[in-house]
Amino acid sequence: MKIFQSGAELQKYALELKRSGRTIGFVPTMGFLHDGHMSLIDIARKKADVVIVSIFVNPTQFAPNEDFDRYPRDFDGDVAKCAAHGADVIYAPEAAEMYRPDASTWVEETVLSKPLCGISRPTFYRGVTTVVAKLFLLAQPDFAVFGLKDAQQCFVIQRMVRDMNFPVEIIPAPLVRDADGLALSSRNRYLSADERSRALSIHRSLLAAKARIAADRRTIAAAVEEAKVAITAAGGRVDYVEVLDCDTLQTPTDASRRVILAAAAFFGTTRLIDNEIFNL
Ligand code: AMP
Repeated sequence: MKIFQSGAELQKYALELKRSGRTIGFVPTMGFLHDGHMSLIDIARKKADVVIVSIFVNPTQFAPNEDFDRYPRDFDGDVAKCAAHGADVIYAPEAAEMYRPDASTWVEETVLSKPLCGISRPTFYRGVTTVVAKLFLLAQPDFAVFGLKDAQQCFVIQRMVRDMNFPVEIIPAPLVRDADGLALSSRNRYLSADERSRALSIHRSLLAAKARIAADRRTIAAAVEEAKVAITAAGGRVDYVEVLDCDTLQTPTDASRRVILAAAAFFGTTRLIDNEIFNL
């Protein structure tokens, strides 16, 4: 497995691969890899000649009050997991390598990035789209795999690729959970045992709300309220629970079919997100 720290070297290598007719599958991550990340690498491995994984805790997607400084890191463990799942290349730049001190260009999606996480994290998606656009230009992928754990992020990236004509196919991958239902996340590492068991209320209440709404779409408001009450009763601080049309990320209309029921809540100081996507 090759490990690159230099973007220029990665880009040169990727362009040579392309010239020799090889296909490149790409999995961008922030590291501290778990089975959710591995599922994306497995999908890329099945489809591409060469699999590139990036490991980069991207400073531009963290607000000053967020957890950039304490975001968990385990580079050696990540390298071993990538190797075990057949990745060919890891790109792990330093922040100073990725962003010049006087960098002044952003890539910004302005509609799908506004609701849900965009409300409490108003600069988050601008950081994500900017770094993903840069990573696409460095890794030159034919396709990139994004997890539906971060469904809004996946939709924002699909819109960016469409609007900016990136020659990259975006492959959404299913959300991977622990056996007890908690969505796998690098941030689960922050949870105490007690917080972790209380946090199971997020997925439980989403499943209850989904069952109600799928049976009768007129119950959306009541089901969402019930989920908020259940998460709060378990000791969570709800950021949002919402049902939105997957295509527009607006309130569903009578014509809406596929919807996302999404939640974000704090347990202790840890902000967790989860969602269920289903048809009305
Ligand atoms: P992150 O390292 O958290 O930035 O995530 C990198 C990629 O892994 C993103 O496309 C995430 O959506 C995906 N991912 C993270 N957790 C999961 C999970 N539990 N299931 C599926 N994909 C995930």
